[in-house]
Amino acid sequence: MPSLKVTKWLGDIPIEGECTSCPDAQFKPSWVYHKPQKAVNEEKMKQAFDRHCREVHMRGYATS
Ligand SMILES: [Zn+2]
Repeated sequence: MPSLKVTKWLGDIPIEGECTSCPDAQFKPSWVYHKPQKAVNEEKMKQAFDRHCREVHMRGYATS
C-alpha cells in the first residue's frame, strides 16, 4: 500500500513529500501566505497525495 512520506521539512512544516511506491512522484505544496503554515501544508500535501493515489494507484479498479 503506497503512503505519503515527507522528505523535506522546514522546522515542523512539511514542504516536500513523496510516494513510497513511486520514486518519481513528488509533492510540493505551494503556499499562498508569505510563510508556509503547518496545517495548510499538511492539508495540501495530503490532498496532492490523495489525487496521486486516485490517478496512479486506483487505475484499473475503475470500470472499463
Ligand atoms: Zn504512488
